[in-house]
Amino acid sequence: MSNQDIKEAFELSAMFLAHQSYQSLTQATIQYFSSIEGVEEVSSYEIFGDPGEQDQFSVRRFPLTLYDNYRDNNTELLMKFLIGSEGGVKTIEYADQHWILLDVAKKIKPRRVILIKGQVSSLVMTIIEGLYNVYANQIALLDSKERDVLTHLPNRQTLEITLNDIIVFYRGLQHKKQEIKDSWLAILDIDHFKRINDQYGHLYGDEVLLHFARLMERGFRHTDFLFRYGGEEFIVIINNSDLVGVKTTLERFRKDVEEYDFPSGSVTVSIGFTQIDPLAPPSLLLEYADKALYQAKNNGRNQLVFFDELKTVPTTDNGDIELF
Ligand code: GH3
Ligand code: MG
Ligand code: MG
Repeated sequence: MSNQDIKEAFELSAMFLAHQSYQSLTQATIQYFSSIEGVEEVSSYEIFGDPGEQDQFSVRRFPLTLYDNYRDNNTELLMKFLIGSEGGVKTIEYADQHWILLDVAKKIKPRRVILIKGQVSSLVMTIIEGLYNVYANQIALLDSKERDVLTHLPNRQTLEITLNDIIVFYRGLQHKKQEIKDSWLAILDIDHFKRINDQYGHLYGDEVLLHFARLMERGFRHTDFLFRYGGEEFIVIINNSDLVGVKTTLERFRKDVEEYDFPSGSVTVSIGFTQIDPLAPPSLLLEYADKALYQAKNNGRNQLVFFDELKTVPTTDNGDIELF
């Protein structure tokens, strides 16, 4: 390695370390790998489930795909080479092609993978191996910033970024005429959570929040986005669904919570939701879902309210819902 090569490697890692979000870091990584001589294609994925189990395995392509059961030409390769992999960089021969697989598996959920198609020199391979370590560590660091410490769900700041990405995705689609249904935003607020804290203590309350987050992960699809919005409030963005589908999914989740045996016994949840209109600002969507939630609480909790169905309720001059 020449002095120039070493200098470039340092500059590259400094460039990686400068990124302050997973989105921009991954975008820059893809861009850099794509610029390498011999590289034909670079793809990045989030991996869910067990690659050994066809029906439990799912991938989400970066930056954003809102389609169900996403599969592409690389899915088979990923399943084959991720089984038993402990993470790291691998060179692969598959379908008469050369590939490099960067598998960020350790301690990171969901697992992230970058797949490079093409053949590179041994010097470039050494640089890629070095950058893999920088990338993996940086993701771990950014995850801790973008996710909630207790539940590991993405936090409120990440919600804002994701909502913007979704809006950009739908606005882009208007020109492409691709078949996709709507996205929906729901706020899920645990009922009388304060009582759980008061009765069993804060630590017990935390335990309930953890169970609730795991129930969410089981109750929604990988193509839906989950967040901890704050305290005992969570958000789910349900993608590619119609009104009947979203009502069925949320109602099923409400029932799952009602029937689940929490450490503190029975817990219920109230849900308010709205359709994501790509022309509306995110703050307005949150306000709509929150209004629907408010109604669900006032109707007696443990139920689901759709913002559009609120409109039949008489409102006061300032637009607040008249409840009494
Ligand atoms: P409602 O049915 O109207 O939603 O009633 P609630 O008691 O759930 O709502 P309220 O907003 O009155 O209380 C929420 C409580 O959640 C108060 C706060 O102490 C507690 N809380 C917020 N964050 C955490 C946390 O991280 N851990 C624990 N254990 N409690 C939290
Ligand atoms: Mg609340
Ligand atoms: Mg509550």
